[in-house]
Amino acid sequence: MFEQLDHLCDLNKESPTYFALLFCDLDRFKIINDSLGHEVGDELLKSVANRFSAKLRDNDLIARIGGDEFIIIIEGEKSLKNIDKVCSQILSLFEAPFQTKYGDFKISISIGVSQFPQDSTNIKELISFADVALLKVKETGGNYYSFFDTKEKTNIKRRLELENEIYKAIDNKEFEVWYQPQINAKTNKVYGIECLLRWNHPEQGLIAPDLFIPIAEANGSIKELGHFVLKSACKQLREWRVNNIFTGIMAVNISPRQFDRNDLYAQVHETLTAEMIPAEAIELEVTESVFSDDNNIHSPILRALRKLGAKVAIDDFGTGYSSLQRLKSLPIDNVKIDKCFVDNIEKSLEDAAIVKAIIILSKTFGIDLIAEGIETKSQAEKLCKLGCFNHQGYFYSKPLNAVKFEQWLTEFNRNNSQSENSLNQAKCS
Ligand code: C2E
Ligand code: CA
Ligand code: CA
Repeated sequence: MFEQLDHLCDLNKESPTYFALLFCDLDRFKIINDSLGHEVGDELLKSVANRFSAKLRDNDLIARIGGDEFIIIIEGEKSLKNIDKVCSQILSLFEAPFQTKYGDFKISISIGVSQFPQDSTNIKELISFADVALLKVKETGGNYYSFFDTKEKTNIKRRLELENEIYKAIDNKEFEVWYQPQINAKTNKVYGIECLLRWNHPEQGLIAPDLFIPIAEANGSIKELGHFVLKSACKQLREWRVNNIFTGIMAVNISPRQFDRNDLYAQVHETLTAEMIPAEAIELEVTESVFSDDNNIHSPILRALRKLGAKVAIDDFGTGYSSLQRLKSLPIDNVKIDKCFVDNIEKSLEDAAIVKAIIILSKTFGIDLIAEGIETKSQAEKLCKLGCFNHQGYFYSKPLNAVKFEQWLTEFNRNNSQSENSLNQAKCS
């Protein structure tokens, strides 16, 4: 099928004739397959293929490319209206229920469309673009079709390029770990550091993790990256401990996908042993999704790591699904109040009330607390007033590379020892 499509693209490059690529995916097919069995699933797929064949013209191409995914090529229909019509016809093929030995079933289909040559003249790109359009349909409930929006092309192309480059970039040592201090505003001491990944791309410069972490999570390379961060963090911590520069806690972000291989415990244990660092000096930051019902299998791994001595923090607290009362039952030592609450803490009574509730509950359950994303002095002061003294944010320092962080820390400690009535001490004690 791919060779045929490649050929079609080549032919059309010489004398471009328009074609549309329809990426079709059955909605909720997995549920049918899982509940009624593969035999019924296969039977259904055959009926779907038969309905397609009965409707499509001889020169239209159709191929099944995955479990319940089909690609259809409609050649020569230059007008968008005609493609609209073809898509509506395909949707209507699913109006009548499908017969199986267990009775009649109604299923629906979603379609993403990309167009040659205006979206791309490369078949792989055309498929990816149609897939992006398909995802949009799925997000809004399925059973419809959508055209790829050419405006998104630059973003997606960049994403595809980055996806291909991540593994190579790991080998080329293009990733770096940066460090952001965590400060106790009562004592004005740096007690912790969060490790944050950066991609030093040879052509694009420094790429922020918000752009590449989701890609690394999607293609699985986050497992290698996560391991790299853990090793780098521990190596750096050892150096700072040996030179008496920093002896506090190093916090490392752990993606839910790092639980996939079941080797997280071994990785942490081995890295700590190799760098001769006590487990108590490491904190693993996980998001609430790690504790969702589907993922409850992750809790035992976190419990084992805590038994080893490592701390577990819940990141971006308040933005996910966990309710306040769940705090009691989660295997965690620390709660990180998300930046979005800190942003509005002075203006929004509701946000201040949520923060207050998180503070009271954490204290009741004996869980530590830190607020992140603090950008102003007045936010820091308000948090102190509410009873939250552990702070992280640009107000104190942005994340810095190891060399700059060391300079910042030395300076911070010097200023701190010199000024007895430092701002935070005065305001927060
Ligand atoms: P996060 O874990 O919530 O990390 C905090 C983010 O907020 C960091 O962005 C940090 O630079 C930023 N930040 C801290 N203080 C302030 C502030 O006062 N104002 C503003 N505007 N931002 C502040 P960064 O480094 O861009 O990281 C973004 C996200 O990428 C992280 O959010 C985390 O989810 C992910 N990430 C970063 N490094 C890693 C990693 O090593 N592994 C994994 N799995 N995810 C990582
Ligand atoms: Ca974090
Ligand atoms: Ca966070």
